[in-house]
Amino acid sequence: TKGRDQEPVPGSPASIPHSYAHSHAKANATFVILVRNSELKEIVESLKQIEDRFNRQYHYPYVFLNEEPFSEEFKRWTGEIISSPAYYGLIPREHWYQPDTIDEARAARMRHALQADDVIYGDSVPYRNMCRFNSGFFYKHPLMQQFRYYWRVEPGVKFFCDVTYDPFVFMEQNNKTYGFTISMYEYERTIPSLWTVTKEFIRRHPEHLAPDNAMRFLSDDGGNTYNLCHFWSNFEIGDMNLWRSKAYTDYFDFLDANGGFYYERWGDAPVHSIGAALFSSKDQIHFFKDIGYRHEPFQNCPQGNDHRKGKCWCEEKDSFTYEGYSCTSRWDRLYV
Ligand code: GDP
Ligand code: MN
Repeated sequence: TKGRDQEPVPGSPASIPHSYAHSHAKANATFVILVRNSELKEIVESLKQIEDRFNRQYHYPYVFLNEEPFSEEFKRWTGEIISSPAYYGLIPREHWYQPDTIDEARAARMRHALQADDVIYGDSVPYRNMCRFNSGFFYKHPLMQQFRYYWRVEPGVKFFCDVTYDPFVFMEQNNKTYGFTISMYEYERTIPSLWTVTKEFIRRHPEHLAPDNAMRFLSDDGGNTYNLCHFWSNFEIGDMNLWRSKAYTDYFDFLDANGGFYYERWGDAPVHSIGAALFSSKDQIHFFKDIGYRHEPFQNCPQGNDHRKGKCWCEEKDSFTYEGYSCTSRWDRLYV
């Protein structure tokens, strides 16, 4: 593909073997962006950075998804900025809106209660639609069927460093299923029953747990209680075969039937994190410590050799990664 191999990779990558940086293989992969027309300005900021730091050498396509048709202006400006094909998809109604099986009176009571407790997005139905869609539907969209790997991008995020190798090829060659940059604790108020429901699922389907899974990232007592750790899903590089697996399909359907996306406010971050951690082996989950990334108000700033290699413009000391509210030091401890 044009441009892909034109620029030599400076230096010797610290954490990624040399061969990946120079690999000619191209993964079956796409960016995926769920976004509203009203976020055009913010999404072109993200796109400009993804292109300059990475994709203008690789030309991976983009899939934009929305429950409303994208405006001509949206398609024109996003199409101008990127160096690859773009697909603009409409989300099927049944993948987005609150299902009729949800008791709306009960859901409304729960929204008001969360709102009264000042929980962020506590009373928002669209936010719940979004969380459910990202949890169980984005990889089912017809435009996504042609792809295996995806990189999720949101409006208004920052990429601080050059990405000096192909992360999709890295995922494929190392049999990774899920990659993250930031982790943290969830607000318990948004998921009061998620772990109870998850434990019931495990009781019914012990066969779905991966051998050597990452339960220890989620629980400090062997699975009895959830420690609220999750990967921050506004950034994800993942293998959709994980979400399309029987294990995750059964898990999502079980959660969806429970109704907690609407009766509580289950986020796609804890749902994906639990799914990735239980249905993958722990070494299939990858911390992209060398990807400099910010979604307000937190960032991962690569350190030391990674900072030099990526020519990062974030300050090394301004990294959330090993601060108290991050779970990434717990993640690292799974390996010692
Ligand atoms: P936050 O990061 O949890 O504060 O939530 P965001 O507002 O950033 O939403 C997460 C992602 O879903 C972003 O990519 C948004 O553009 C997208 N999103 C959120 N709500 C909607 C919606 O109602 N419609 C569409 N099309 N996208 C949405
Ligand atoms: Mn966001």
